[in-house]
Amino acid sequence: MELAKLKLTAKRKTICDKLGLKDSDDILSYYPFRYENYQVTPICDFIEGGNVFFEAELLTYPSTFRYGRKSRTSFKVLYEDEELSVSIFNRPWLKGLDIGDKIVIAGKYDGNHKITANQYYLKSIEEIKGIIPVYPSVAGIGQHEIRKLIESVYGQLTASLEDDLPLEYIQRHRLVDYRTAISNIHFPKSEMLLKMALARLKYEEFVRFYLAMELIRDEKVKAKKGKSFDERKLSSFIDNIGFPLTDDQKKATREILADIKSSRIMYRLLQGDVGSGKTAVAMIAFYANYLAGYQGAFMAPTEILAKQHYESINGLFGDCRIVLLTGSSKNSDNLKKEIADGNVDLVIGTHSLFQDDVSFKKLGLVVADEQQRFGVKQRRKLKNKGPDADFLMMSATPIPRTLASSIYGDMDVSTIEVLPAGRKGCDTYLIKENSLRSFLDAIRKTLKEGQQIYIIGAAIDHNDNTNIKDVRELSQAIGQLLKEYKVECLHGRLSDEEKETIMARFHANEVQVLVSTTVVEVGVNVPNATMMIIYDADRFGLSQLHQLRGRVQRGNLKGSCYLLTASKDKDVIARLAFLANCNDGFEISKYDLKTRGPGDLLGYRQSGLPPLVLGNLLNDEKISKAARADAHEIIGRTDDFECQNLIAKLKAAAFKKYID
Ligand code: ADP
Ligand code: MG
Repeated sequence: MELAKLKLTAKRKTICDKLGLKDSDDILSYYPFRYENYQVTPICDFIEGGNVFFEAELLTYPSTFRYGRKSRTSFKVLYEDEELSVSIFNRPWLKGLDIGDKIVIAGKYDGNHKITANQYYLKSIEEIKGIIPVYPSVAGIGQHEIRKLIESVYGQLTASLEDDLPLEYIQRHRLVDYRTAISNIHFPKSEMLLKMALARLKYEEFVRFYLAMELIRDEKVKAKKGKSFDERKLSSFIDNIGFPLTDDQKKATREILADIKSSRIMYRLLQGDVGSGKTAVAMIAFYANYLAGYQGAFMAPTEILAKQHYESINGLFGDCRIVLLTGSSKNSDNLKKEIADGNVDLVIGTHSLFQDDVSFKKLGLVVADEQQRFGVKQRRKLKNKGPDADFLMMSATPIPRTLASSIYGDMDVSTIEVLPAGRKGCDTYLIKENSLRSFLDAIRKTLKEGQQIYIIGAAIDHNDNTNIKDVRELSQAIGQLLKEYKVECLHGRLSDEEKETIMARFHANEVQVLVSTTVVEVGVNVPNATMMIIYDADRFGLSQLHQLRGRVQRGNLKGSCYLLTASKDKDVIARLAFLANCNDGFEISKYDLKTRGPGDLLGYRQSGLPPLVLGNLLNDEKISKAARADAHEIIGRTDDFECQNLIAKLKAAAFKKYID
């Protein structure tokens, strides 16, 4: 139901806006990310360091001790005939209480009759105890307000909350009904009921996810003209590519060529670690497409990368006519006309390739580099550019094979697992401070030997509130430190021309140290750069750091990478230490998937698939598997009203947002 139809106070409407909740479904599926379990702790169960929750009687007036902006408030209470000393930090407003008042304390027992409270309540314990949900929130919105909002909406809609899942499947897996599940995920009455609610909602989430995937697949299984080309010419092109293909490259090439020849539109993902040689495979596909008499489009995520692809391909393709079309191309109108007239065989560019005013005479193959997937919308748009166009996506965030089939169930997947021989790899060091002073010697040595260095920062500008190093200040400081060398700063706010000039100078070794934001993340190739230093490494995802590190494994020299962090957080350090010890992109993405979920890593939002909020493809393998099989079954049951109803609803709701 839309927000307007719900009875909500103006304040609650504002909360919905701030949390991005657009209708009652959004609100009811705004799930807690964890729970606090408040059960009364009898004093005989107090153990040192353990959590406690109890109601007591105030024995002394609270007194507050302030230090700077912090404070500590202390008082004594009586609980089960024992006198306890309670301290609570930064809650100086605890006053207006009288001796003998009841107070509920949640906190930790420090032993020796001492408690450090983290919450107190001036209500009866009966009102508070139980399992309390904790919701993701934004500044200024309290947990209490979110709970009240959901309570209100649930109250208004209880009678109309019905199952979308067919009854048969609910019974098959002994799941609770939807209303019970929603009630218990938000207001759990016991651990058991919460568990059952979670199982039910996760299952449904997965079923919707896999149904959407199958629906997208149906969308794309469209006929096209099979392409044929001169195999001998293609073989000699492959022989001249400059190196023998690895077995994995050969296999991927075979799979892609078979798709190109077939009369089904190709929708394939080519995944492989950084440096595994995906581009070479794409080039072969483009050449086959060219020999078949079709135009190709190569889409890169950044102009820098587009230009680099253009330069490396240009020499190899004989008399194939290749152009570079980016936002900053000067004669772009002219280029567009040439493309439309069919005077261009291969266009290399950025997203600008797919603007409405770019039309192709005979588009046969689209390759998107460093792009896990096109959303359904983008795919539609591309299809309009040519009915016979095949799609190949390339991703350097490779997923283990078994997982790939469930995450990318709507695509075919080719995987390059083994890197070309002779790769030297990269030594990674974790530095537990945000400074390079401890390895300054290594830096000087690298520069002295004529090699170059990337330094990555997480911010462009200085910000007093965060302690993040910004690239502008860094590049000045480092320029001072390494006076004999040329240091330049690269970031997304420079004009395309400025960026290009700096990259060109770094390429030519006129600049030895490039201080940059993550614009160099994807694909950039400067083989003489062998050292990478990443400030505030905790700010980046592991897969992203691995990508960055891939920039210094391009040549014959061994690379080194320094991850700097000021964080003291145990989990953060463990995450970075894992990366320092592992150079396998598959393992790294698995770790990221486990801890962060696929949404972050793979950009589900734009994919057309419903997001997985509760479920995790790695940790909930069993439910995921059952749901996948069921989704497949549900799609096939065209005569079943309940199944068709679920599909129709899915299409009408989330899915439709992406399809049209
Ligand atoms: P990525 O998969 O990260 O896009 P690239 O295609 O850019 O990797 O390849 C990385 C480097 O490895 C390039 O310089 C490329 O020329 C080289 N390369 C690719 N395949 C092979 C191979 N089979 N043997 C040797 N070098 C290769
Ligand atoms: Mg690449």
